[in-house]
Amino acid sequence: MQCHYCDGSADVTVDKDGVKVGVCEDHFQDRLDELSDSETLQRLREQLEIERS
Ligand SMILES: [Zn+2]
Repeated sequence: MQCHYCDGSADVTVDKDGVKVGVCEDHFQDRLDELSDSETLQRLREQLEIERS
């Protein structure tokens, strides 16, 4: 999957407003600022670690 924000490959799939979008790690970090829900944040971090291993 390609990053939603750039041409890089997506490392994480973010469910935003019911729409799944792929984001690279750089843009994932950017999006963290928007994710005030700590439960969502924790889930995304777990996903990132799973996909890295
Ligand atoms: Zn990107």
